[in-house]
Order: sequence, then C-alpha cells, then structure tokens
Amino acid sequence: MPTLVLGTRNRKKLGELTALLEPLGLKLATLADFPESIEIDETGDSFAANAALKAAQQARHLQQWVLGEDSGLAVDALQGSPGIFSARYSGEGATDERNNERLISELAGVPLDRRTAHYVCSAALSDPTGTIRVASEGICRGRILESPAGSGGFGYDPLFEIVECHQTFGELAPAVKSVLSHRSRAMRTLVPSIQELLASGRWK
Ligand code: IMP
Repeated sequence: MPTLVLGTRNRKKLGELTALLEPLGLKLATLADFPESIEIDETGDSFAANAALKAAQQARHLQQWVLGEDSGLAVDALQGSPGIFSARYSGEGATDERNNERLISELAGVPLDRRTAHYVCSAALSDPTGTIRVASEGICRGRILESPAGSGGFGYDPLFEIVECHQTFGELAPAVKSVLSHRSRAMRTLVPSIQELLASGRWK
C-alpha cells in the first residue's frame, strides 16, 4: 500500500488530518515513524511557501511522499496578524494559552463587529524527489471573542467563533470542525488530486 507521511509534529493537527485523509486508503505515517526526520525552518513569507518547504525538504530527506501543512489565524483589525507567526505569537516558549492571552489583549476595546478573522490552511504534497505535485489552500471565516469558550480543538479555537453557529471551535463537536474548518477545506481540494495521482500510476 502506498505511504503518505504527514509532515507535522502537532498532535492535534495530526488527528484532524488523519480523519480527513483516511478515505484515501493510503497508509498514513507520521514523522514519529521516521526517527531520521529533520526539523524544517519556516523561512517562507506565506503559508503556501512554508507548506511547500515542509513538504519538499522532508520528502527529499526521507525519500517518501510527504504532505506539508502550514496554517494560522489572520485577524482583520490586526492587519492579518498573527498570520504565519500564529504558533509563535507570544514569543519564545509560546503556548496556546499565552498566544490566546496576547490576542485578547491586542484586541482590547475592539467591538465585536470589528473582530472578524479567518483561519488559513495551506497544504502541499511533495514526491520523494522534493517536487511539489499538488497544492491547495482552505479558509474558514469567524470572529474573535473577548474571552475563551470551550476546550475542544487547539490553538485559537476557544476564541474563534463561527458566527452562524453562535459557538467557538472550542465548543463545537470535532465532527462540525471537520466539515467547516480551513484544514478540511484544504484537504477536500487535495484529496481528488491525490486520487488522480494514485489512479494514473504516477504515485511512485
Ligand atoms: P504551524 O504549525 O506553523 O502551521 O502553526 C499553526 C498555528 O496556527 C497553531 O499553533 C495555532 O496557533 C494556529 N492554528 C492553525 N490551525 C488552527 C486550528 O485549526 N485551530 C486553532 N489554531 C490553529
């Protein structure tokens, strides 16, 4: 069975990606299955560039097909911040909790109707030579609440409200996030292209 290596060490992301990619019928592996896997510096200036770096460099190193994923939160009132710096928003030793605290303080005094934001997920699939064969991007719109609600998901999810649902991704069931999220939208575009590669015998 062909193997796809998920090129992230974030366990929450891995859980979501595994659920979304399971229908492909590929053997899904993680970087934990490859002790020789390398750390990739996220030096790109966009989500797409970082996803491609994570996929291509790891794929060439491991000689495997690798899916690179880069994602984050863009807040309109903060001119798109934290953007590609979402994971490191609160600086050295950043945690989800500290990142959320910084976001709340940056938005202090901003009224609810101007707290609009969107998540972005860029994905790139590299073949074992380091060539990107397929790429996709998904976004999910919402707004940032003044205080966290719910404990589901990860990262900024307890602050990120899906306006139509009147609930945050921290409160909504994983099954709902797996339909609406930026990550699920990016994967929904990617899956048919991967199926095409497999069917045409170009997955080698
Ligand atoms: P990356 O690992 O460099 O792609 O950084 C991703 C960061 O963006 C995470 O650490 C979170 O802060 C944020 N992020 C990305 N996707 C999500 C999500 O689905 N929920 C909440 N936060 C997310």
